[in-house]
Amino acid sequence: MTGDGLFPTSVVGSLPRPEWLTDGIAANERGELSDERLREYYDEAVILALKQQETAGVDEVSDGEQRRFSFLGFVAEKIPSFRLVPAARLMSKEAAGYADDMNLHVGIISNPVIVGPIRRTAPLVADEVRYAKEHTDKPVMAPIIGPFTLLINSWNKKMSGRYYPSPEDAFGDLTRLLREELLALKEAGASFVQLDEPAIGNFVDFRYTKWLLALNGWKVGDVQELHRISAELVNRTVKGVGGIKLGVHICRGNWRSDEAHYSHGGYENMIDEILDLKVRRLVLEYATKRAGSYDVFRDHPWPGEVGLGVIDVKDPRVEAPKEIVRRVEGAAEVFGEERLVLNPDCGFSSGRPWPVVSRQTAFAKLKAQTKAALLLRAGRS
Ligand SMILES: [Zn+2]
Repeated sequence: MTGDGLFPTSVVGSLPRPEWLTDGIAANERGELSDERLREYYDEAVILALKQQETAGVDEVSDGEQRRFSFLGFVAEKIPSFRLVPAARLMSKEAAGYADDMNLHVGIISNPVIVGPIRRTAPLVADEVRYAKEHTDKPVMAPIIGPFTLLINSWNKKMSGRYYPSPEDAFGDLTRLLREELLALKEAGASFVQLDEPAIGNFVDFRYTKWLLALNGWKVGDVQELHRISAELVNRTVKGVGGIKLGVHICRGNWRSDEAHYSHGGYENMIDEILDLKVRRLVLEYATKRAGSYDVFRDHPWPGEVGLGVIDVKDPRVEAPKEIVRRVEGAAEVFGEERLVLNPDCGFSSGRPWPVVSRQTAFAKLKAQTKAALLLRAGRS
């Protein structure tokens, strides 16, 4: 058997922005750089991100999310039904208690809050993919916020209650918004669309979830109810969308390099909901020890592809290719090697203000991932 076609490499989405881009954004905010010139900066940053992924040997590339404030906040930059609101402005006493427990830096978090009926008045991601495809021959994957993570962050009783008295009242409009985007992404030629669902990953210990619920005034009877809602929202979003590969990315948050602040625990807590998801690829954190072992999938086999996290995006140490090979071989025993895609645990900079490693480190890590894939393929030819 030949190793060709096995162990394709991909990314989860974001790459750290070049300093000249963040300087340009700051200059634009001060009124010293025109919107038109800033758009050129964004275009050039995307081309650079694509070429650097090509150089690093990544098989399936992204536009690096260079244009987005964050993987979540960008929704408010595109769709006026949402407004970016600093979390600090929404805090209650109860929410402050949870934030203190986690040592959460609330000051750097802004959420896209629902401030009107949800309508797709502009593309969310399809335009990004179209631009990227003009500048690379590689398949272009598209990360997009998942419906559960969007809802739990965006429905706020005080600000959204006028339009949607309860979170449940927003299910229909919110999943329609994302489903329409999936159809646009199919049209734009995305090779793979990944629904980002860190809010599902936070089910491992519920600390972050409790904070969000308190922040937004969402009352839930028990946590199982949230589990059920998360799978229902994903499945409503993807329903009837054929002819394009869809996946769900589950992680435990990604805003600073010190991992002590993140949720800890394996996928056991949410395995039933995971197996319910009607998508082809699961993109899972596994390089971080916080993610637990592969074992839960021995007893609960996942029938589709697995985007296996082999790079710890929060650790500045660049993994040795042989170390990555060992990780993949362990996973191949459980998932089957023909189902594996190699990718980092998460994006390298889920939000503009919080790159977790430097650009140089990010690309060195992607190179190590490519070398590991080559070693694995060579071992099977
Ligand atoms: Zn992630």
